Amino acid sequence: MNNKKKILITEFINQNSLKNLNKKFDVRYDENLCEKEREIIKIIKDYDGLIVRNKTQVNSEILKNASKLKFIGRLGVGLDNIDTEFCKNKYIHVQPATGMNADSVAEYVVSSSMSLIKKIPMFHNGTIKGEWPRTTIKSREINQKFLGLIGFGTIGKKVADYCSKNGLKILAYDPYVKEINNKEIDAKLSSLNDIYQKSDIISIHLPLTDETKNMINKSSFSQMKNKPIIINTSRGGIINESDLIEAYNKNNISGFALDVFEKEPVESEFYKKIKPGMNCILTPHISGVTTESNIRVSDFIVKKITDFFN
Ligand code: NAD
Repeated sequence: MNNKKKILITEFINQNSLKNLNKKFDVRYDENLCEKEREIIKIIKDYDGLIVRNKTQVNSEILKNASKLKFIGRLGVGLDNIDTEFCKNKYIHVQPATGMNADSVAEYVVSSSMSLIKKIPMFHNGTIKGEWPRTTIKSREINQKFLGLIGFGTIGKKVADYCSKNGLKILAYDPYVKEINNKEIDAKLSSLNDIYQKSDIISIHLPLTDETKNMINKSSFSQMKNKPIIINTSRGGIINESDLIEAYNKNNISGFALDVFEKEPVESEFYKKIKPGMNCILTPHISGVTTESNIRVSDFIVKKITDFFN
């Protein structure tokens, strides 16, 4: 009789990590299952472990039927697609891959900051249209500019470290961080107001919670003094998208990079507001997903689930 623990994987995982998992567990891997909630509800009762990314909504409907489930591995960081309260009450261990994709996200923040402050999207758009906008668009350097970080956890700290070494001055807002060891990271804890007043670039690194939902809105944009660039790699819904576009159109901010959106995939209503000449970068929730991070994240969760059931 096969007495191996049963693991269900509903989204893509690195294939080599999957091979290792297959050696120890009875695994069903279907990266399209995340779209089929009814099917997950039907089969989840048979599984001891579940591995997801951020598309599978691990809600109470699924969890009510998960009578054997003891472990949920999250191939990424945010847990907003998992009902963690329900899991806590049912003693289901939820394991994020904390830090495993932080380098990829930090590199995205650095590269999009540099592109936007240099107005690369606008130069590109003008040049491919044959306009040669060499003097009509003014760009800037990042050296000695203020970078405001909202949320100073794993990724916020990585961004701070990289950017402070490249000439930026770092302000960080995070009420849950009491002090910064300046021997390790050259950054200054600041109020949200200070960040709005002084920053040339603002990057968001928060979890999506009741407290952070809609946190950056019309009122926040109206307090920004230096027409900053706004970067969001954390979660859609933390920045109010309509207010962001309005702030750009009113010249209160000078550009934005969004990797995450209120609705994913992005709906056509949002695209209608984006014009080709805008200083913006839009990407489909990929800042944390690179070849390297996919291997790290997958190996990490495979190790954690193996240790858990040993
Ligand atoms: P983390 O938990 O290490 O850091 C989050 C920080 O936010 C913590 O220091 C916490 O104290 C702070 N915080 C919480 N509530 C706050 C509030 N109301 N005001 C200010 N600060 C607050 O998480 P992380 O690894 O740095 O990741 C940050 C977020 O980035 C994650 O929650 C995740 O949703 C997102 N993320 C996205 C991608 C992607 O591919 N786009 C990849 C990885 C992570």
